[in-house]
Amino acid sequence: AKDAGRGVFRTYEPELHVQAEERRVLEMALRSAVEKGEMFLMYQPVVDAGSGHLRGFEALLRWTSPEFGPVSPDKFIPLAEDARLIAPIGAWVLRTACEEAATWPSNIRIAVNVSPDQLQNPNFVTTVTSSLASTGLSAERLELEVTESVFMHEGLGATKVLERVLDLGVRLSLDDFGTGYSSLGYLSRTRFSSIKIDRSFVQDAAKGVREAVAIIRAVVALANSLGMATTAEGVETEAEHQMVQEFGCTKVQGYYFGRPLPVEEARALAGRRWDE
Ligand code: C2E
Ligand code: CA
Ligand code: CA
Ligand code: CA
Repeated sequence: AKDAGRGVFRTYEPELHVQAEERRVLEMALRSAVEKGEMFLMYQPVVDAGSGHLRGFEALLRWTSPEFGPVSPDKFIPLAEDARLIAPIGAWVLRTACEEAATWPSNIRIAVNVSPDQLQNPNFVTTVTSSLASTGLSAERLELEVTESVFMHEGLGATKVLERVLDLGVRLSLDDFGTGYSSLGYLSRTRFSSIKIDRSFVQDAAKGVREAVAIIRAVVALANSLGMATTAEGVETEAEHQMVQEFGCTKVQGYYFGRPLPVEEARALAGRRWDE
């Protein structure tokens, strides 16, 4: 057993070094990625579940490094969070997304992802206010997506910051619902406009996993009774669309309706006529 233990140690150690080294190098590159213009946003359509009409877009951050090529957000966002770089990067995302959305017809909304770390800083409220003021976007058209993890560090002020953002008229949605820390208390304390049902539930339900079906039904019922909308994420097929429609989801998002689009394509789509 001792030998096996040492063997494991020896096998893993070099790999850990490589990982640490990779992280260090990526982090260095990440530090200047915004100022070097290596980051950009893609916009994924969010549509009305019933009519299929466009309601808005979710802004999704992309980083193409000259050294490393395209780096997945699932990799660089956690890295930016750990390195405390997410606040400046997030401020750039917010500003850029508002600027773009201000050129769209006034019934098309923009959703922006916000990391817990950004909400720990009261300056975040100023970042939102100035993004709206300098772009002329009206607050009701901006939706901030936060995950349950925001509420894990209660007492550090995230709830207060969210309250002040809500007072501006900005909407909040609860992202990746059910995948993280789950206590329903914050649902009654914070005024969310909508709950986003994570792709994993949608895909499992489509495969006939009964628990996933039960969870989606329960979330829709809960949201309805709290006066919140629901968005089903990761809808990839017509069958999945029909399924989430039957569950009563308000909005849908996924490859079936559109992949994240470059800014020009999003603008063209936004500019088409979408009747109520
Ligand atoms: P998320 O907020 O849950 O965003 C949805 C993710 O699902 C996006 O991945 C999107 O491209 C992907 N997706 C959408 N529809 C489908 C589908 O039908 N099938 C499949 N398989 N995937 C679909 P992406 O763009 O790679 O982003 C990953 C995560 O990175 C996001 O998950 C979000 O947590 C984070 N992220 C992205 N942009 C930002 C940002 O500007 N700020 C922060 N803080 N986080 C961001
Ligand atoms: Ca999101
Ligand atoms: Ca999500
Ligand atoms: Ca996610």
